[in-house]
Amino acid sequence: MSTVIEQTLELYGIENWGAGYFDINRKGNLIVRPSENDPRAADVKEIIDDLARRGIGTPVLLRFPQLLTSQVRKLQRAFRNSIREFDYQGAHMCVYPMKVNQHRAVVEEYLREASRYDFGLEAGSKAELYAALALEQSPDSLLVLNGFKDEEFIEMAFVGARSGKRVVIVIEKLSELDHVLRLADRYEDGPMPMVGIRVKLYSKGSGRWEKSGGEAAKFGLTTTEILEVIRRMQEAGRIQMLRLLHFHIGSQLTDIKRIKNAIKEAARVYAKIRQMKVPIDLLDVGGGMAVDYDGSRTAFDSSANYTAQEFANDVVYTIKQVCEDENVPHPTIIQESGRFLTAYHAMLVTNVQDEIETVVEDIQPIEIDDDDPQVIIELADLRETISAKNYREYYHDALEHRDELFTLFNLGLISLEDRAKGEVLFWDVCERANRFARQTEDVSEDFDELRRLLCAKYLTNFSVFRSVPDHWAIDQLFPIVPIHRLNKQPTEYATLCDITCDSDGVVDKFVDLHDVKQILELHALTPGEPYYIAILLVGAYQEVMGSNHNLFGNPNEAHIYIDDDGYLIKKVIPGTNVGEAVERAHYDRGQLHEGFRRRIEQLVRRGELSEAQGMELVEYYESRINSYTYLVNGSTPSRRLRD
Ligand SMILES: *Cc1c(COP(=O)(O)O)cnc(C)c1O
Repeated sequence: MSTVIEQTLELYGIENWGAGYFDINRKGNLIVRPSENDPRAADVKEIIDDLARRGIGTPVLLRFPQLLTSQVRKLQRAFRNSIREFDYQGAHMCVYPMKVNQHRAVVEEYLREASRYDFGLEAGSKAELYAALALEQSPDSLLVLNGFKDEEFIEMAFVGARSGKRVVIVIEKLSELDHVLRLADRYEDGPMPMVGIRVKLYSKGSGRWEKSGGEAAKFGLTTTEILEVIRRMQEAGRIQMLRLLHFHIGSQLTDIKRIKNAIKEAARVYAKIRQMKVPIDLLDVGGGMAVDYDGSRTAFDSSANYTAQEFANDVVYTIKQVCEDENVPHPTIIQESGRFLTAYHAMLVTNVQDEIETVVEDIQPIEIDDDDPQVIIELADLRETISAKNYREYYHDALEHRDELFTLFNLGLISLEDRAKGEVLFWDVCERANRFARQTEDVSEDFDELRRLLCAKYLTNFSVFRSVPDHWAIDQLFPIVPIHRLNKQPTEYATLCDITCDSDGVVDKFVDLHDVKQILELHALTPGEPYYIAILLVGAYQEVMGSNHNLFGNPNEAHIYIDDDGYLIKKVIPGTNVGEAVERAHYDRGQLHEGFRRRIEQLVRRGELSEAQGMELVEYYESRINSYTYLVNGSTPSRRLRD
């Protein structure tokens, strides 16, 4: 017999997608470890309670920087192992693509660990480059620049090289080369950036970002364009600047076979260029290492059918094979993994605020008497006599009676009270049928649909658009787990509704080993007690791509270090307040205050409010400028208007 804790571990798939970082302790709380098999652990519920005592309520984004460090080490070790195993003659270096999560805390934590292995940065815009130029990275690490560039962007790269960084400008379009050659003449009296070329491969990736590769891709140079770049650089006497070949066939590459094909093709292009006496020695295989969000280890969109070690082995072995075949030196392998490094380190913890009633419940107990219409008497009879033996038939009967009920109502033959009675009875029959279906493990489509209809809708204090935009935009799955009560069996089936005024603001797809779950098992809400859930693995792309739908803005944020005693809250960053949120939409605080004051003054002048009442309203309004944009829950006291 397994314990309840073992059952909940399995139910939520924690060991499948958790990469060894997450577990449940004896209290039934979710815990986080700084690395796999580490005895140290932080209790997430304790952290949330601690933050609440400091006035930091949910939703709160918890960052565990140690998980980021641990992922960097995992990746470095995988490549080190492969390089040894296959006796590869080149090195492996990473450049972290800032677009995945540009937050200073994330980039600085990465750089701290990265400097031990000469791992550097990748920037894809002027703003990212601007930040990168001021950050401390190890002297031998690279700063790779991808994305479309104007002259200003490229000049900034030259300035970066002057400042001592090993900058690589990756040419995505031929016109960028003209700027590079012109600026090279201007800056040639000092250290200069290197040049790379992004190749448009015939091979495509797999998964959601398949379009990033293949002949129709948005980025990269065709074979003729690559030859043209080489010709022009030779002609300009700048061919020694050309050092790197780059490709990137997409993010969250789910299928290792596709990755191998792309590497084979790119390695061949590298070898052929090398044979043209071009001093190219860096082969940049892009990003795309997938995160197994659902833990199924398959080529499904939210998963991956390979481990980091298998990925490294395939990259190293394939490049080596091609180089030996073509008789060229092994290049240094550059890798731009972002998602793999940052996804694990962040989770959003929030509270379920309430339940949204969607089925008709009886507010007053209903009584049936003999002069009720026939349809009501029949529905009442179904309710009384439904059983495990007849629930299917009775459910279908109830559906018919409901249609009849509405027909009678529309013909004016029954009253509003009758209709209400009938609806309550109908949903009662449905709930009973659903219970019998569950008991008998009925998986027929009818009852699947009914279960979805009857499942609880938990009103959850967050914005899907702000905190998990990919769930809304591309149906990506994220693991969701309660952070406490995990030593008790969940008894409810639920979906999550966020607090935006948007019917798309829901989470109704959940990780499952074999399929996608439409409903999540959660605990029943206890009045007066908060119920907290965590949305995990949100450290890559989510927080930085989230939008300001409904002006919710950033949630609170806390940085947590896990130590021998549990945890240490290193830093707290308060989320967006109302004043900041309205300013993002270009309102001016002063003007808003003035506008409200003017309205009140008019009412006072007309005698509809006393001066004191007016003052109080104005004071209240102005005091709310600093309040949190999310719902205030039990743990955070708020200043109430005097009743
Ligand atoms: C987005 C991007 C990456 C990062 O991809 P991940 O899937 O996060 O590893 C790397 N390189 C380029 C050029 C990118 O555009």
